[in-house]
Amino acid sequence: MKKITIAKGDGIGPEIMDATLKIIMAAGARIEVEEILIGEQVYLSGNTSGISSASWDIVRTNKVFLKAPITTPQGGGYKSLNVSTRKFLGLYANVRPCVSLHPFVSTKHPKMDLVIIRENEEDLYAGIEHQQTDEVVQCLKLISRPGCEKIIRYAFEYAKQQNRKKVTCFSKDNIMKQTDGLFHQVFNEIAAEYPEIKNEHWIVDIGAAKVADSPEDFDVIVMQNLYGDIISDIAAQITGSVGLAGSSNIGEECAMFEAIHGTAPDIKGKNIANPSGLLQGAVMMLNHIGQTDVAEKVHNAWLKTIEEGTHTPDIYVEGVSKKKVGTKEFADAVIENL
Ligand code: NAD
Repeated sequence: MKKITIAKGDGIGPEIMDATLKIIMAAGARIEVEEILIGEQVYLSGNTSGISSASWDIVRTNKVFLKAPITTPQGGGYKSLNVSTRKFLGLYANVRPCVSLHPFVSTKHPKMDLVIIRENEEDLYAGIEHQQTDEVVQCLKLISRPGCEKIIRYAFEYAKQQNRKKVTCFSKDNIMKQTDGLFHQVFNEIAAEYPEIKNEHWIVDIGAAKVADSPEDFDVIVMQNLYGDIISDIAAQITGSVGLAGSSNIGEECAMFEAIHGTAPDIKGKNIANPSGLLQGAVMMLNHIGQTDVAEKVHNAWLKTIEEGTHTPDIYVEGVSKKKVGTKEFADAVIENL
């Protein structure tokens, strides 16, 4: 029995976490769940970091964390807990697979099957911002050679293990010659150590346009933190919905698993959120802790449910889908297919 930490988060978080836990427990996950409170509730109770030190201890002790989305205030308030968690636990690699489920989910990109590997600790997300004068503010973009080496090697090792054929690097080294220049240079050095895997580089703006237009041309794409955050949302959305994709955040000792989307406050409490993203995160978690039998069972039951046309409203399309269901009913349909 593996002890894991969970946090139900904000917005649609509790709904999708309940659905996800119900499914994985019904599939026989050999886990014991320890819940912590993070996000809005903690912030409103007066703890400006959004998480107590006792909760940090639990996360660190259990080492595996399944986390629902949490609200991050815009333009003020507490620092993003997502960013703090990734930094605090040393979760340097964010892995975000975006796969088309054609013909069962409507998409313009039926052959899409790519994985975005995003650097998770550095870049503009290091959170170093200064007020320089009354009218000028500054945000530092921090890129280190060890950071580049770790994430780029991770991308090539991932490609090797998953039998993927190509790793693409996105950077903006025509403009940011030192920071993005270093990322691109390290990419070239490490790519040379993997002659069996094709490699290529695109400047991030045209690279993003190509992902939106012909995602089937990509396999594994490695990029810095901010580019990865933005482009993985685009990639997930064009598979059919941002609600479909899960992600893992991997470090040397700890790992965190989540949906790629946010708290979706516009649909909170309506029982219409798609729990698939968090469920995909949970499948990655089960694989990570060696419960590959349960992971496969859950993934197959989920695929069968999607293939049967039982869809939440975000992916429901007349003529493609068969039955429009809510979050709870979708979870029950997956359990029926276990
Ligand atoms: P969002 O991802 O929450 O929502 C964007 C749109 O996608 C909304 O219309 C929403 O209804 C829809 N959507 C998202 N997930 C869905 C699902 N599972 N099923 C159906 N539809 C879904 O993005 P946002 O509105 O920019 O952010 C809201 C809050 O979430 C912000 O506070 C932001 O900081 C936070 N956020 C948290 C995380 C995280 O915890 N990892 C990630 C991104 C955003």
